[in-house]
Amino acid sequence: MTVTERTDVLVIGSGFGGSIPAYHLAAGGAEVVVLERGPELGAQDFAHDLRIGSYTRIVDLVQGDGITVVAGNCVGGSSVVYFAASLRAPGFVFDREGGLGRRLWPQSVTRSALDPWYDRVEETIPVARQEWGQVPYPGGLFAAACTRAGRTCNPVPVAVDLDRCTNCNWMLGGCRFDAKRSMLLNYLPAATAAGAEVRALHEVQTIAPATTPGYRYRVAYSVLDGDDYRVPVSAGAIEAKIVVVAAGAVGTPVLLQRSAPLLGGMPRAVGRYFSGNGDRVSIADVDEDKVSDLLGLERGPGSPYDAFPVGKPIGSMSYDRLDPQAPEFTRFSLQQIYFPGITNILAQATDDPATSWFGVEKKELRARWRSWLSVLAMTEDDNEGRFGLPPATGSFTRVASSVGLSTLRYRPTANTLRGWAAADDEARAVLERDGLARVRPWSEAVGGSLSAHPLSSCRMGDDPATSALDDRNELRGHPGLFVTDGAAVPTSLCVNPSLTIAALAERACPHIVDRAADAGVKVRYGAPAPDGSTSGRRGVLKLSTKERR
Ligand SMILES: Cc1cc2nc3c(=O)[nH]c(=O)nc-3n(C[C@H](O)[C@H](O)[C@H](O)COP(=O)(O)OP(=O)(O)OC[C@H]3O[C@@H](n4cnc5c(N)ncnc54)[C@H](O)[C@@H]3O)c2cc1C
Repeated sequence: MTVTERTDVLVIGSGFGGSIPAYHLAAGGAEVVVLERGPELGAQDFAHDLRIGSYTRIVDLVQGDGITVVAGNCVGGSSVVYFAASLRAPGFVFDREGGLGRRLWPQSVTRSALDPWYDRVEETIPVARQEWGQVPYPGGLFAAACTRAGRTCNPVPVAVDLDRCTNCNWMLGGCRFDAKRSMLLNYLPAATAAGAEVRALHEVQTIAPATTPGYRYRVAYSVLDGDDYRVPVSAGAIEAKIVVVAAGAVGTPVLLQRSAPLLGGMPRAVGRYFSGNGDRVSIADVDEDKVSDLLGLERGPGSPYDAFPVGKPIGSMSYDRLDPQAPEFTRFSLQQIYFPGITNILAQATDDPATSWFGVEKKELRARWRSWLSVLAMTEDDNEGRFGLPPATGSFTRVASSVGLSTLRYRPTANTLRGWAAADDEARAVLERDGLARVRPWSEAVGGSLSAHPLSSCRMGDDPATSALDDRNELRGHPGLFVTDGAAVPTSLCVNPSLTIAALAERACPHIVDRAADAGVKVRYGAPAPDGSTSGRRGVLKLSTKERR
């Protein structure tokens, strides 16, 4: 028989969206349990190799129909594997209307309303403003190409301790030097120090009504085998007064869909409106001679560039196409980014001979791998992703370590395609000028589009017909059930999303605390930052209650 435990607050997932509420609720006095599907690893466990069994323990490649999503699978979630580019979303993003024709974000969430919450996050996760001398060589090359093409380019702010960073470029495998400011270094240890219990290899399967008076939800989980996540080794259930779902934008909607028959009244928007953040990847095959002739660069004797794998993964980006006055679906940022060798599928074949790199040409391209430069455009997509019926367990059907098949279907609309085409044109205008490089945008022909920034599958908003959460991240019709991960973000952001996910999670915390207090939990909002700093707290406590809501 399954033993049922009880706790005040149950958090599902331990990325940005889970760790932040776990910390504030525990620091405020609540009893908190965090259930995380992935294993618990630390700096000493992260390896500098691409062997099956090292990075595959902590990264999932989730294949949907028309899209592939990359996400973290470990304690700390995607923050452990991410590339740490940390940007606030541009103001116009909050006014986006998408294909709906009316504002998608709640009225109460604007860039200026979110700024104090961004400040609160940045107090805990300091964002380093890189000098050009700290930007890796590919970032410098991209900047030089932008300048030559009459564009501007800036170093990317990163959540990295630059003094500790060795520029090893193994961020995808987890940081061995504790330089990347993942959840493992701040919110999570602080939550644990405040009494929260984090249980690794615990995959939540359903949420149902509780049977114990005073408790609202019963969360059932499987304990997974640490060597083969497909194998459950035991099961259990916990009843909680408050549940925070933060299983990521490919996990949260699936869990809620599976729970719908048990909970009843699931909002229609759960599992709809998925956004890949408009991510659009291109690779450029750079002509080494042109680098020296056109840009005057030389990395070392006889080697003008030859530096694709050098440095941190993200170095520089151009904000030129983030004009708030430009029409929606034409705005995007362009970012220099590194993809490790394992993602050589970037040079994938297409069925269009005009754009294919195939056969001998493709082999040669791979041989010139160190002369690649890849560019990520973050565009405005149309929230066109939708999940089908949930699998029996988990967020997707795990077919191997690190590989899953999802019911997510993504068919880019004309709006999204327009944005991608504009981004492709811009990448070419910058990098193909005078033959500096040959650009090949990502081809959807093989695995669909690619995103490391899943969002919006359980989004917040004011309209119950098109949003699953109210403006406090509470699931409509389900008091005390909150969603605080990327699924809550209503639209693509035109920049990398982690800082916005974190700011929204910070903003949700006072509301979660209020609900917990209503349910009889002895808890108060207002803990300092995990390291004891208080300026972020001052910034949000001085907001009126109405603004905090
Ligand atoms: C390779 C890579 C590079 C990136 N680089 C950047 C970057 O430079 N800048 C940036 O801003 N963003 C970046 N991102 C995106 C960013 O990391 C994510 O947007 C962000 O971390 C998502 O946070 P989250 O809380 O929504 O979800 P996650 O951090 O993904 O957390 C979800 C957690 O829930 C767990 N989980 C899922 N289902 C269950 C279940 N049923 N039961 C229990 N646990 C479950 C998962 O294992 C995971 O740990 C990158 C992502 C990747 C993969």
